[in-house]
Amino acid sequence: MLTCQQATQLMSSRLDHEMPITKKMNLKLHLMMCKSCRRCDDQLDLIHQAGKQWYQRVIEEQATKSNDPEK
Ligand SMILES: [Zn+2]
Repeated sequence: MLTCQQATQLMSSRLDHEMPITKKMNLKLHLMMCKSCRRCDDQLDLIHQAGKQWYQRVIEEQATKSNDPEK
């Protein structure tokens, strides 16, 4: 059984790269039983999605800027 700290660490590393299936299972199991980590997981998900959207926008802005003639 994972501790909450271990679970949180797994959650944030999951966002960066693929996790071995055994760790995924452990995390899933912990999330099933631990309400506060579930909430934390939701928030990390939101942050991750927001981050992706922000990154996308920056890329698009850069692209538009470089296409623009000098102002
Ligand atoms: Zn927990």
